[in-house]
Amino acid sequence: MIDIEQLKQGNRRALAKAITLVESKLERHRIEAQQLLETLLPDTGKSLRIGISGIPGVGKSTFIEAFGKYIIGLGKKVAVLAVDPSSPVRGGSILGDKTRMEELSRDPNAYIRPSPSEGALGGVAQKTRETMLLCEAAGYDVILVETVGVGQSEYEVAAMVDFFLVLMLPNAGDELQGIKRGIMELADALVINKADGESVNLAARTQQHYQNAFHLIRHGDFWTPRVETCSALNKAGINSVWDMIASYQKLAEACGAFEGKRAKQNAQWMKKLIHQLLEQRLKENPQVQKRMGELHQAVVENTTTPLLAAKTIVDLL
Ligand code: GDP
Repeated sequence: MIDIEQLKQGNRRALAKAITLVESKLERHRIEAQQLLETLLPDTGKSLRIGISGIPGVGKSTFIEAFGKYIIGLGKKVAVLAVDPSSPVRGGSILGDKTRMEELSRDPNAYIRPSPSEGALGGVAQKTRETMLLCEAAGYDVILVETVGVGQSEYEVAAMVDFFLVLMLPNAGDELQGIKRGIMELADALVINKADGESVNLAARTQQHYQNAFHLIRHGDFWTPRVETCSALNKAGINSVWDMIASYQKLAEACGAFEGKRAKQNAQWMKKLIHQLLEQRLKENPQVQKRMGELHQAVVENTTTPLLAAKTIVDLL
């Protein structure tokens, strides 16, 4: 059993046990986990949720270590979670790894949790959302959700945070890799890391370039995405990144966009889960399984229409 009072007081063991429960694939654990989350719901939502993305080697763990320590220095508690795009080739999760953030992981005001392995319903992102709620109930003021800058996981993380930050390398002129337009639209800020040593000027040019690019993209009314530079290694510029996010929060709260965004995220997530639940029910339904092969064959042989076959299957539910 999870000790809810202990968890709410920030007890790390109680939190870890709750996260393990949430990540479990066993049906009875899933029911228990949902009950726990419902009980804790009034204690959630009070944190600032920040997504941090970037290609491998851009300096995510170095940045999170410096950023996390800075936030703790402001008297806050920080949780670091990760959404790893599951890849059987790479195997295991490298994000949110304690060995990558050694100093932060030793801090009593930090909690680091690596990415769950592929979850059942809703996948890794669903597990991370739920873990985020548990961390909030345990009193963490800032939740950092780390992901790699490839594919779907960026969209999933952007859909669960208040502020989405993309780390970039200093890179200008012709060498500028065409940053995906989709990412420009997701990002609330770009931060050019490694703005140190010989790269200082290049970083400034890169900053200028992206600032110009942002002007061409329409965003929400109250916030124009910003481009900052920093050196995570030298812990330089970290404070400006925090100040920027704090000013975003202030603006968003003042105009109601902060709560509005979360409400929209929850509603979209519910829709997504409805689809996934239906798909799961279809897969588990013995009658559906029985008829599926035969209808598949009929469609392939052109003896029935895909729509009629699909309706027959759905009607079986
Ligand atoms: P990740 O794969 O995105 O987590 O990147 P890491 O944080 O592991 O950093 C990759 C490499 O870049 C490491 O060798 C870091 O020491 C180095 N690095 C990270 N941040 C900076 C920085 O601000 N300046 C410089 N010069 N190197 C950095």
